[in-house]
Amino acid sequence: MRLTILGSGTNVHPARAAAGYLVRTDRLFLMDFGPRTLMNLIKSGTDRHRITHILFSHFHADHFADFIPFFFDAVYHAKHVGRREDLTIIGPRGTKRLFGVMLHTVPGFGTAQFHTTIREVADRSFRIGKTHITARTVAHSPRLHCLGYRVRYGGKTLAYSGDAMYCDGLLALCRKADAAVLDCSFPENRPGPGHMHAGDCGRVAQEAGVKRLILSHFYPIAESRDVARQAGRRFDGRITVGRDLMTVRL
Ligand SMILES: [Zn+2]
Ligand SMILES: [Zn+2]
Repeated sequence: MRLTILGSGTNVHPARAAAGYLVRTDRLFLMDFGPRTLMNLIKSGTDRHRITHILFSHFHADHFADFIPFFFDAVYHAKHVGRREDLTIIGPRGTKRLFGVMLHTVPGFGTAQFHTTIREVADRSFRIGKTHITARTVAHSPRLHCLGYRVRYGGKTLAYSGDAMYCDGLLALCRKADAAVLDCSFPENRPGPGHMHAGDCGRVAQEAGVKRLILSHFYPIAESRDVARQAGRRFDGRITVGRDLMTVRL
C-alpha cells in the first residue's frame, strides 16, 4: 500500500494544500479532495482518470472543494479524449444530498459519459476490490456527521482521522495501525476547537498502539512550533511531519 499526501494543510494556508490523500492498493482512490490538492495530484504523476473511488470524511470545504474542477475535467475527458472508469463517491450522511445537487445542477455535470454512484456509510466495513475499508464516526463538529477511515490491504493497515478530536471512534480506527494520519491542526500550547493539537495526536497514537504517526492538516499557527516534539512527549513510536507530495510505503 502506498499513501501520497496531496494536502497537509487546511482551507487557506500559504504553503500547503488543504486535506487530500491518494491511496494506491489494488485500486487507486482518494480520501478527501480539498482545495489545491488537484494540482498536487497532477504533480504526483498519477493518471487522475484511473481514480475510481473518492472517500470523503465530511463536508467542510477544505475537504471536498477540488471535486468540482476534477469532475468538470473528467466529464470533458470522457467526452473528447478517452474512456473513463465509473466513479463511486463515498461519504457520511449528507453525501447524497450534496453530490446529488452538484451532479444535477452544475452545468455539464449531468452529461457525464461514465456512471457515478453515491454511497453513504456510517460505522461499517466495505470493500473496494481487495481493499478492506472501515468507516467510523468521529467527533469534530456538532450537527455534522464526520468519518474517519481505516484501510487494510496486503497485511498493512492505514488509519485516517479526517478532522477529529480525541474520541473512542478515533481510537478504534487507529488500533494497532501501521500508520495513522491524524488531524494536527494546532500546536499543544495553542489549542483550538473541534480538532486535535499535537499532544492529542501523540496520545491517540500511544493509546491505540500505532506504529507510525503522521501529523497533518496543519493550520498556519502549527508551523511556528515543533509539533513532532510535542507529539513525541506522549508517543514513543515513529513520528513524521506530513508535507505535500510526501509518499509513505506500508
Ligand atoms: Zn472540518
Ligand atoms: Zn479540515
